[in-house]
Amino acid sequence: MTKEIRVLWENCLETIKQSISPQSFKTWFQPVRPVSLNGATLTIEVPSPYFYEYLEENFSGLLKEALDRELGQDSGLEYSVVVDKGTSESDQATINLPGSQKNQNSTGLLGFGPMDSNTFNFYFDNPLNPNYNFKNYVEGDCNRLARSAGLAVAERPGSTSFNPLFIYGGVGLGKTHLVQAIGNLIRKNHPTKSVLYVSSEKFTNQFIDALRNNKVQEFSSYYLNLDVLLLDDVQFIAGKEKTQDIFFHIFNQLHQTGKQIVMTSDCPPKSLKGLQERLLSRFKWGLTADLRNPGFETRSAIIKRKMEQEGTNIPNNVLEYLAYTVDTNIRELEGVLVSLIGEATLNRKEIDLELAKEALQKIVQDIETEVGIDYLQKYIADYFKVTPESLRAKTRKKEIVIARQVAMFFAKEYTNHSLKVIGYHFGGRDHSTVIHAINSVNDMIDTDKRFAESMREIEASLKVKAS
Ligand code: ADP
Ligand code: MG
Repeated sequence: MTKEIRVLWENCLETIKQSISPQSFKTWFQPVRPVSLNGATLTIEVPSPYFYEYLEENFSGLLKEALDRELGQDSGLEYSVVVDKGTSESDQATINLPGSQKNQNSTGLLGFGPMDSNTFNFYFDNPLNPNYNFKNYVEGDCNRLARSAGLAVAERPGSTSFNPLFIYGGVGLGKTHLVQAIGNLIRKNHPTKSVLYVSSEKFTNQFIDALRNNKVQEFSSYYLNLDVLLLDDVQFIAGKEKTQDIFFHIFNQLHQTGKQIVMTSDCPPKSLKGLQERLLSRFKWGLTADLRNPGFETRSAIIKRKMEQEGTNIPNNVLEYLAYTVDTNIRELEGVLVSLIGEATLNRKEIDLELAKEALQKIVQDIETEVGIDYLQKYIADYFKVTPESLRAKTRKKEIVIARQVAMFFAKEYTNHSLKVIGYHFGGRDHSTVIHAINSVNDMIDTDKRFAESMREIEASLKVKAS
């Protein structure tokens, strides 16, 4: 670096310093090195792609101002991004990228430097969703261990015994959210660390591309230089031997050098069929934590949080209704909320129980083949020529009691709801009433031929509806 460049950059820093907090200055500008000056274009070196992204997003105006002062209106800025932090200087690979003031007509980040741009784009193609943070991740019994292990890892990546951290759970239970929350927090607290979130599917596809284009070396060196690897849905690589081989290699290297690995899967390691034993045994080195279906309380808290985020009020009875009814997974719960808010806005209506039921009905028809409890109640009430309301009412009239018991019986048969939830839908009865109803119906089927015949009839037409 020539003296001229150093002085130039120091002058720029003086200007910048006056406009930002000492903390920001220290974090974002001290690690930057000026490397070359070409005409009026200064190239600065930044330690990671994230750094580049952050500077461009937050300080490009300020940088331009400072440069203009030193070099005039034509000043330009280019970044040299270190992507390969090898042990010796010569191992460093850098990618040059234009600063925003020269980048206005370009089509984004694709297409810089034929070889390195691929590597570089891995990073940018995998941005983290800023809403997937810990603040928005409601804590409950269903996720307590995974959540707190995730927090610990995010605070001290690579330095806890949770390495790898293996998080598993069914679909829509918050794996991707949690793993990205870890990534977001690390990027915030450790801006110089290179963090990559990648789905296993993408990992596999990148690898196949690399194989095809003779770039396996480049592929692995990119991964080997990460500080934190967040690999989502690792069950995807089951049965893919070559992908597992390269992942095994990457895993070992990262783990040995104290880099953090977090993986998610839809099932625990022991149930991952088609995964090499050597990988499975490594997955168990750290901590395995599961995400379960949230209970009623957590579902209520999640609904509350989401509605707060949207700035929408939700009456307590609606909240309770939804929390009781949508007990499959959090993604579906969100789907219902989104459509509820949509309906309310579109029709300029307040959110109330009726609207909630409508929204739910739509979603249920869209995403499930299952028969909803409301539909069941209506169908069975019609069949027995009573009203659906009477099934939920307190009345003990014989014909209604039978219709109610039959409806409970089919609710158990045709929906995924628990006994408790079914009871809730029948006028807030408890689960023992539902068990009693099911037993009574079974007894009647055994002893009353005509009743058994009716049950077969109902079942046949419900099956048509459910398929
Ligand atoms: P998975 O990856 O396990 O299929 P996601 O992480 O995509 O599930 O979660 C589905 C949706 O549910 C996301 O929109 C996510 O924000 C939300 N979600 C999951 N868990 C929670 C939680 N504990 N608190 C708030 N929202 C959650
Ligand atoms: Mg996911």
